[in-house]
Amino acid sequence: MCIRITFTNRSALTYRTYEASTQVITLPSSLPDEVVEIAVRAVLDKLAVPQALAGARCHCGAAIRLLPRIPEQRRSAQVSHHGA
Ligand SMILES: [Zn+2]
Repeated sequence: MCIRITFTNRSALTYRTYEASTQVITLPSSLPDEVVEIAVRAVLDKLAVPQALAGARCHCGAAIRLLPRIPEQRRSAQVSHHGA
C-alpha cells in the first residue's frame, strides 16, 4: 500500500499528520498549494523516506500525486462533478 495524501478542515489537534496503519498523510485544507509539496516532503523526511530533488516520493520509490486536492468531506460530490 502506498502513502496517500488527504486534506482536512479539522483542528490540527484532532488528527495525526501521518497515520502509520493507513499510510495516510493528512494536511490542513487551508495549506496553500505551493507549500503542499514542501509539507509532504517534510513529513516524509521525518519518516526517513528518501526524497528526490523534486516532487514527493513514497517509500517504494513511486511519485506521490499531490493534486487534485479533494477535501475528504466533499469527495463524493467532487467525483460526480468531475466530468468535462
Ligand atoms: Zn509506494
